[in-house]
Amino acid sequence: MTETIAAAEHTTGGLPWWVWLILAALTAAAYKVGEWRWRPFAPCWCCKGSGKHHRKDRKVFRDCWWCRGSGRRKRIGRRVWDRFAKVRNAAR
Ligand SMILES: [Zn+2]
Repeated sequence: MTETIAAAEHTTGGLPWWVWLILAALTAAAYKVGEWRWRPFAPCWCCKGSGKHHRKDRKVFRDCWWCRGSGRRKRIGRRVWDRFAKVRNAAR
C-alpha cells in the first residue's frame, strides 16, 4: 500500500495523478447524468419533500408555495436535460 502511495506521489510507473482525476470527474459526471435521467426529482428544499408547511403543533398546515404541495422539485441538471430534449424533438 505504501508503495502505491509513493508511486502516485512521484508519478513514476502507472498512470499519472491527473488521469485518475479525470477518471474520477468522468465517473462523477456519469453518475450525475444518470441521476437526471432516471431520478429527475429531488425533495423540495423548502418543505423537505412533505409538500406542506406545518405549524409547530402540526395541527394546521398549508401547501408549500415553492413546489405547490407536490413536495418535489426538478433537479437543475434535469431542467437543462429537458431543454436539450425539446431541441432534439424539434429537430426530428
Ligand atoms: Zn416544497
